[in-house]
Amino acid sequence: MMKVVDIHSHFFPKTWPSLQQKFGGDDWPWLRHQKSNGSGLEKAMLMKGNKEFRPIYSACWDGKVRIEEMDQHGVDQQIISATPILFAYEKPVEQSLYCAQLFNDAALEICQVNPQRLFAMAQVPLQDPDVACVEASRAKSTGHVGIQIGNHVGLKNMDDEGVLTFLQHCASEDIPVFVHPWDMMAAERTKDYMMGWTVGMPAETQLSIVSMILGGGFDRVSKELKICFAHGGGAFAFLLGRLENAWLHRDIARGKSAHPPSYYLDRFYLDTAVFDHDALQLLVSKMGTDRLMFGTDYPFPLGEQQMGQLIKTAPQLTELNKQKLLASNAEQFFVLPK
Ligand SMILES: [Zn+2]
Repeated sequence: MMKVVDIHSHFFPKTWPSLQQKFGGDDWPWLRHQKSNGSGLEKAMLMKGNKEFRPIYSACWDGKVRIEEMDQHGVDQQIISATPILFAYEKPVEQSLYCAQLFNDAALEICQVNPQRLFAMAQVPLQDPDVACVEASRAKSTGHVGIQIGNHVGLKNMDDEGVLTFLQHCASEDIPVFVHPWDMMAAERTKDYMMGWTVGMPAETQLSIVSMILGGGFDRVSKELKICFAHGGGAFAFLLGRLENAWLHRDIARGKSAHPPSYYLDRFYLDTAVFDHDALQLLVSKMGTDRLMFGTDYPFPLGEQQMGQLIKTAPQLTELNKQKLLASNAEQFFVLPK
């Protein structure tokens, strides 16, 4: 039997104090729970202010439900992280820090149901790198296995001075970082058909990797940094040839990077949430088999519904490589118990 570790899954606490009451403003997230009819899974509507954002169910907040569903799908261990709507990067730093501590502690509580199988990544107020560093260190000391950050802070990309300061802190303290797209570009033009998720999110992630490379981020942050980008890196692998060509033939496309983009492929990891064998094979051919980690986006509808099947049924992967993608790489990256 192959061990399976899912590094990309999300949680919400069942309840939390009203952020609107505490801080004012009309765009804070909260859960509107449905009355339970006594059977089936409990459901709730995730609200942003008075707008419905997404229907969710009890796997988000109930570790027992999560473990049951992991068992059904043969997932041995799972790392839970906040949903980006909880980041509050656009708020004053003290409000964002309050959210980080609230949700970070709540994540650890959910993991208490089975601390050998459930692990958590923390969030930090990335708009203030100094405060973010302190919270990252606190989170590590309380048991978080890594930090999840949003892929940008307003107009600041991954090559921003403050973001690089934070990444260097994580490199120095051996804190793994997972980069999740959020606050998607071109919101006005992608508001229909969930295009913010299917088009905007992968574009955000590709932008993050490109800005990190061309902004000289990988040249400046030490090689010890463990960093993984979500959703297979968006369109990065597919468009690497275009990026490489631009770097070689247009000096202004080189930015601050000391080497061509392909030079940096061994500096980061990607998850495997791509839902297609050809896409997975492209990732393997560009990134190799040591830098890909299984991720589902569970328990959301846009996640892998049959968790683990994409890798388990991949025609070109050997059993050894399947095991690397499904568990071994993640065990090393996050330092998980075997
Ligand atoms: Zn996600």
